Amino acid sequence: MNKRRRIYEGKAKVLYEGPEPGTLIQHFKDDTTAFNNKKHELIDGKGVLNNRISEYIFQRLGEIGVPTHFMKRLNMREQLIREVEIIPLEVVVRNVAAGSLSTRLGLEEGSQLPRSIIEFYHKNDKLNDPMVSEEHITAFGWANPQEIDEVMSLALRINDFLVGLFLGAGIRLIDFKVEFGRLWEQNDTMRIVLADEISPDCCRLWDAASGDKMDKDRFRQDMGGVLEAYQEVARRLGVLTENPRPRGAGPVLVSSKPG
Ligand code: UDP
Repeated sequence: MNKRRRIYEGKAKVLYEGPEPGTLIQHFKDDTTAFNNKKHELIDGKGVLNNRISEYIFQRLGEIGVPTHFMKRLNMREQLIREVEIIPLEVVVRNVAAGSLSTRLGLEEGSQLPRSIIEFYHKNDKLNDPMVSEEHITAFGWANPQEIDEVMSLALRINDFLVGLFLGAGIRLIDFKVEFGRLWEQNDTMRIVLADEISPDCCRLWDAASGDKMDKDRFRQDMGGVLEAYQEVARRLGVLTENPRPRGAGPVLVSSKPG
């Protein structure tokens, strides 16, 4: 068997060379880490769930015109993606106070924010992903002002869409982290696209009725039931079966016409 060339190995994913130039294979591992790798465990089956959940979300976002790196799912743990130049920023969108925002500003966990807030962190594990401002981003050349505008507008569109998508599944989207990349197209034009993944590893998801956590905080806080929570997110989104979503399970378009 030909050994595939490994391009990059991160904490929860591996990137391999893809079958065509300009493509990569994104492989989801079971490794689960927190506190910049200080806490590390294997959660059997987590990679399979994140592959499916992220595929589903990227496809739905693609359908509303959000450009993404996703091409197709290949198997249980892998998807074919377009190769992009990753912008070295973690873009966090918040709807409700939690995590580091609650700690930093002394806000009660669970309090609704006056509006959605975007934060930037510089992707750098050695420095613990420090929070940065637009001034740092442009001064150090990580992205230019037009790219920052595009990233912010995409992040807000993604947030608006995901809040509704999750609410339809009885889940409150508290906050999430996304990454973007530059996709170079044939005529030397460049587009900013959504990259990486969107899964319970990088979102805060609370059950809308009980407030129970259904995301990686269960691992960070030693709450147990991590895999079960991810499974429940997948089940509610309707991604656990090979069959299409049953009719009537999602939002229903209401006609304004009488009769
Ligand atoms: N997040 C992430 N990767 C990181 C840091 C944060 O995916 O390296 C996600 C995290 O899961 C949460 C959101 O970004 O949904 C905001 O995280 P926060 O800044 O509150 O940090 P935390 O409390 O998770 O350290």
